[in-house]
Amino acid sequence: MLAHLEKAPQIPSWKVLNGLVDKIVPKLARALQRAINDWKETLSLEELETQVRERRFNEIRNIVPLEDLDREKLEAIYEEIIAQSIDAVNPLKGRLKKADPVIPTVAANAFSFTTKNPTVQRYLLNQTATLVTGISAESQVVIQEALNDAIRMGLSPAQTALRIKASIGLAPNQVDALMNFQMKLQSGQLSALTDVQRSSIASNLGRRSFNIESVRNLEQPQIDRLVTGYAEQQLATRSKTIALNEMQGAVNFGQRALWNAAADEGVIDGTTSMKEWIVVDDDKLCKICAPLAGARVLLEETFEIAGLGSVEGPPAHVNCRCSSGLIFEEQLDGRRRGGLNLEGPLGGLRRGR
Ligand SMILES: [Zn+2]
Repeated sequence: MLAHLEKAPQIPSWKVLNGLVDKIVPKLARALQRAINDWKETLSLEELETQVRERRFNEIRNIVPLEDLDREKLEAIYEEIIAQSIDAVNPLKGRLKKADPVIPTVAANAFSFTTKNPTVQRYLLNQTATLVTGISAESQVVIQEALNDAIRMGLSPAQTALRIKASIGLAPNQVDALMNFQMKLQSGQLSALTDVQRSSIASNLGRRSFNIESVRNLEQPQIDRLVTGYAEQQLATRSKTIALNEMQGAVNFGQRALWNAAADEGVIDGTTSMKEWIVVDDDKLCKICAPLAGARVLLEETFEIAGLGSVEGPPAHVNCRCSSGLIFEEQLDGRRRGGLNLEGPLGGLRRGR
């Protein structure tokens, strides 16, 4: 029934996917940063300060319940960007159109990956919910930590309020760095400032390079401004990390959705076609992904990762650079592993006869 194997023009899929991801990440990162900042702006420093002074710690811990997040707004931004990332997979389909005349007729319906596609819709809802829950839960941890530090160090209510507000949206290790930064400025241990901290100060003071004299004998409002500026830069870094991870997930999801649709439409044989885990085999290859190199499962099956459970495909973890490829039955004969490797979305999709 399957006549021959057609080889589409090949570009390693991880390069294509990483290229798409790199293009769209800054947009999502900015959107996330804006969403978190909008949400932070609703927090009044004066009100926080009063809560600290009156030791209303329970109220403070609960300033970021999930329902306080402008979830709808975040979802809208997120959804728009995911839709664009799925759209960005379309040029790959265009390449396939040239390679296989079956594709154009199917592309019009089953391969429409807009937000109206139920599979895409489910993914979006699930992803944004997980993202919002994650940020919200982490913020509660971070607020508690900031509160503990402030009490331990005997910070004033105003300083505590500032620290709490600056910490929101950051990862716990970033909050530690923020505290470290503030302590150095506060206690005048300027020679202990790290390079990252020095360049943050320079940019927040509008200077080209760091000058230690510029931070000697600072007044409290100046220190507060530098701390807030440093937190803002950390939030930018954090947003970029989250966006990168989210987009890696989105493009890999798009690729698999495309294959599953191809199987449902009978363009490929879903009972025999397999997906193969493709790693970027360089010195950054991690312990989680190394054992997965070349692993193959049927399209509807999941990959089992030791200690992590089952996943439909990459990414396996934060900053995972893996992708997956589509493998056909005849490519499996006698060489189930390490055999012919057709990478890329619908790479080498062949024609049913
Ligand atoms: Zn990986």
